[in-house]
Amino acid sequence: MNLVELSDNFPTELHCIEYAESIRFGKKIKCAYCGSTNLSQRVPDFRHRCKDCKKSTAVTVNTTLHNTRISLKTWFCAVSVITDAKKGMSALQLHRNIGVSYPTAFRLFHKLRELMMDENKNIDELSGIVEMDELFVGGKPRKMNTPHITMDSPNPFVRIAHAKGETREELDKQIEDLENNGWDFTPQGKNRANITSTGKQGKGDRKIPVVGIVQRNGNVIAEVMETLTYTNLKEMVKKYVIEDKSLLITDSFAGYNSMKKIIEHIKIDHNQLYSYKGVNSNSIESFWAIIERGIMGQYHSISPKMLPNYVAEFVYRYNNRRDTEFMFHELIYKLLQPIN
Ligand SMILES: [Zn+2]
Repeated sequence: MNLVELSDNFPTELHCIEYAESIRFGKKIKCAYCGSTNLSQRVPDFRHRCKDCKKSTAVTVNTTLHNTRISLKTWFCAVSVITDAKKGMSALQLHRNIGVSYPTAFRLFHKLRELMMDENKNIDELSGIVEMDELFVGGKPRKMNTPHITMDSPNPFVRIAHAKGETREELDKQIEDLENNGWDFTPQGKNRANITSTGKQGKGDRKIPVVGIVQRNGNVIAEVMETLTYTNLKEMVKKYVIEDKSLLITDSFAGYNSMKKIIEHIKIDHNQLYSYKGVNSNSIESFWAIIERGIMGQYHSISPKMLPNYVAEFVYRYNNRRDTEFMFHELIYKLLQPIN
């Protein structure tokens, strides 16, 4: 929901409160403390007095928004701009957009990220053609799959060096076998072989690995991974992918070498090729590109501890990219759930 739609649908604080009450209580407003419907008329600060337990009650009582000093309208506004910001936004930008202090914007944003992280746990297991890849946040610049970005670009992301990978002949053989087994990589005519120059890829320091798996035309899963071992990568595949209904595409990083033990697997060596006959990791690369653009501007302010929350924000937005209205209502709904 964009800001124009928001101001049409929720022009005043009372509109926001009534919507919130309908989400939390249904048709009949209840006391948030005792559940009684025996309430006073709404008093000027929008609360009700419960005639049974005598408490002053409001729709935000015992939710994430309990004791919030920010109006519901401001929360609605924050959810609207954050879910609508396809490339992400900084807390500084949020502070300017919704007119609260920077620390308030920062806390509010993090609260919403926690809700997104929580919601990401409900993603269905991935299947079909899935692409898996790693992104390193921090350290020296990484070589990008785009001609205008060079190793000298001020980009804080880096890739690790790759093990020697498949030759084109080996790929041809594998692709033929897979196609004989019914795998169809892309529509005809797309993704023609695209030879890129070879070159050593730099190792930097202070890198934090983020590993992602995306289902083509579907959802993405991405997590910070302590160490990039086969065991950890394998566990991630087992946790998020239906192995016997999927084909995994990765680059030739050595950590993926034994994936064939658990899943149909084909590798593409980025030192030689980025895409060949539909075998590529373009979908996950597109997701990394969004993360890079989104996090780069505020990279200096992201602590390693908070990185998973930032990643969760991008995952959530990507997976709901076709329905920003749904994101808005889902996050408002989650904000208004009783905490205990
Ligand atoms: Zn009561």
